[in-house]
Amino acid sequence: MTEDFLPLFSAGHHASDDALLFAYTGDEQILRADLTLPALADLASLGPAGSDNIIGTLGGRDCRALAWPRGTALPDGLIAQGMRDVLTAQAAHIASITVRARQMATWDLHSRHCGACGTATFVVAGEPAKECPNCGLREYPRIAPAAMILIRRGDRLLLARSPHFKPGVYSALAGFVEAGESVETCIHREVLEEVGLKIDNLRYFSSQSWPFPHSLMLAFHADYVSGDIVPQADEIEDAGWYDVDALPGLPAPISIASRLIANAVDEIRARRAAG
Ligand SMILES: [Zn+2]
Repeated sequence: MTEDFLPLFSAGHHASDDALLFAYTGDEQILRADLTLPALADLASLGPAGSDNIIGTLGGRDCRALAWPRGTALPDGLIAQGMRDVLTAQAAHIASITVRARQMATWDLHSRHCGACGTATFVVAGEPAKECPNCGLREYPRIAPAAMILIRRGDRLLLARSPHFKPGVYSALAGFVEAGESVETCIHREVLEEVGLKIDNLRYFSSQSWPFPHSLMLAFHADYVSGDIVPQADEIEDAGWYDVDALPGLPAPISIASRLIANAVDEIRARRAAG
């Protein structure tokens, strides 16, 4: 998240007139044809939004998330763009707010009723939370931690393909943290399950919020210890050790996987250059 962004959660109708508008129809963001954020006047013909909240401020300016159902007809001059394209096209500081805006709008729509007793919930003042007036259950926006692991063996990197990747693209291993697991336990389990290897020397690299649908990806470097690669059926289509000078197709630059791999490549090349 950009430094001058402050997260908060309150009703959208309190937003100032100069609010930045992050508008969605289903999973897609509504933008002007020139890919800039729309103004309220642009959205007038869509009718009342199903979800409308201030989700933070950027440099003191309100950021407002509005959502309409999937397939809502847009007037001339507006387009709906998929999130991956949005994140690729937008400046980094706006992209991080886009991620939050979409996740908060989705959470708002999915938490209208209590998960325990079905009573309509209300927004808790001053907190990103919904509460049930009947049983008191509180619901907070869900964030699902996932771990990404780039394994090194000397100068080579373990890169693998999941069947749902674009053709030719390889990446680091990754998987969701299970309930009750530490991130470290998850990493060792995922590596053993997906490629049958033992690793050690986990080094935390960086993290990235990822709106598909509400992940927080925590990326690590690790070193190979033992085992031969055995790709997990249905999960890993292909996996292998790649020299940094002969890498396969890699993930898009917006992803943390891309930065994690680039970081390892830089370190290995610098070590080689130093002799
Ligand atoms: Zn309840």
